[in-house]
Amino acid sequence: MWRSVITRIVKSTGLAPRRDIDIMQRREFLLALRDGMLLLPPTGALSALAQEPAAGDSRMEDRSRLRLFFAGDVMTGRGIDQVLPYPSDPVLFENFVRDAREYVRLAERANGPIPKPVAYDYIWGAALDKWQAYGPDLKFINLETSITTSDYYWRSKGIHYRMHPANVPCITAAQPDCCMLANNHVLDWGYSGLMETLTSLHAAGLRFAGAGANLDEAARAVRLPVPGKADVLVYGFADAHSGVPKQWAATNNRGGVNRLHELSDRTAKRVAAAIAAERRDGDIVIVSIHWGGNWGYSVPPAQRRFAHGLIDSGVVDVVYGHSSHHAKAIECYEGKLIIYGAGDFITDYEGIGGHEHYRPWLSPMYFVDLASDTGRLERLHIVPLQLRRFQLTTATAADSQWLCERLNESSREFDTVIEAGGDSLVVNACAIA
Ligand SMILES: [Zn+2]
Repeated sequence: MWRSVITRIVKSTGLAPRRDIDIMQRREFLLALRDGMLLLPPTGALSALAQEPAAGDSRMEDRSRLRLFFAGDVMTGRGIDQVLPYPSDPVLFENFVRDAREYVRLAERANGPIPKPVAYDYIWGAALDKWQAYGPDLKFINLETSITTSDYYWRSKGIHYRMHPANVPCITAAQPDCCMLANNHVLDWGYSGLMETLTSLHAAGLRFAGAGANLDEAARAVRLPVPGKADVLVYGFADAHSGVPKQWAATNNRGGVNRLHELSDRTAKRVAAAIAAERRDGDIVIVSIHWGGNWGYSVPPAQRRFAHGLIDSGVVDVVYGHSSHHAKAIECYEGKLIIYGAGDFITDYEGIGGHEHYRPWLSPMYFVDLASDTGRLERLHIVPLQLRRFQLTTATAADSQWLCERLNESSREFDTVIEAGGDSLVVNACAIA
């Protein structure tokens, strides 16, 4: 896998590295990158590589319909990092757990042994088949970990997620088109941890939004052209109420996340104005927001008002919300989709008790069909998966039915109807009042 990625970079860019990277090991490669010993191909070439569909990948053929994939939190640090080929120093600075391997033991105690080290694509399991079957045009994840060897941890936080940079191929294995970084873990290992995260993603050809080396970079949209359909613009934001410290906000001369200090009408107008200035006719615009707490189904009125404000501005087509550890309500407002909480997708929480009534082991996949000319929601498929032994597997029929009931209950106030159908739960545009 690693060799083939390197070979593809070298072949497609024609850039010769100073050393024969074919015989280099992963760790050496990353160290060389960090030390500036390798020439990196230009961003465009890397992006092209990242977006190149895998063999057999069937992207949506129908040009009138854009199919987007969204997942909630992807946390490949801590316990997950420990089962990957290049685990970080397992030391933790949490109140109760001081060794990341403890999270592996908890998961194994719950569901059986994990074959360590796992292959880079192991964690995605059943999701790989679903991506193949549904063939989304673009894939988005909320990447909720720092990718770094930094040992500086953010003192006022109780939980710190980090993944070793040499484990980045586990992210590339999912081929996300954009990783959302505006969240409450990307700076867990300080500003240097953030910078190494950005460098590691960039070196792997992965695009990201919502964090950067300064405010301009953090706030900038990522433009993703889908040939024959539309250009998709995606913006990443984190709300103050998702546990993002004030000091993490990017400024003109300091790296950080694109933090919203408040979800007011004024902020919605400011965000919409910035989007309007960048958006071209025909663009489809996604606003990703890490907002709210981890548990609970109720949607704070401020979130609803903010999402409505963005859609009322006429420049936003999808509000992609996350932070909750479980799926939350879905709304179709003025024909546009609002996901209030996409839930968790990959975590190391397996075997940790306390919130079983939310069934937090469920990992919903959101396949969103939009009219490619107007951005209106045509259909949403939610495919429920579940984590077992740190790998996504198909959810049980009982869990799928339970999720369908919970989503209907929590979405009732938005008049959204979710129906069970085949391997997914379906929201039909016609079922939306
Ligand atoms: Zn979070």
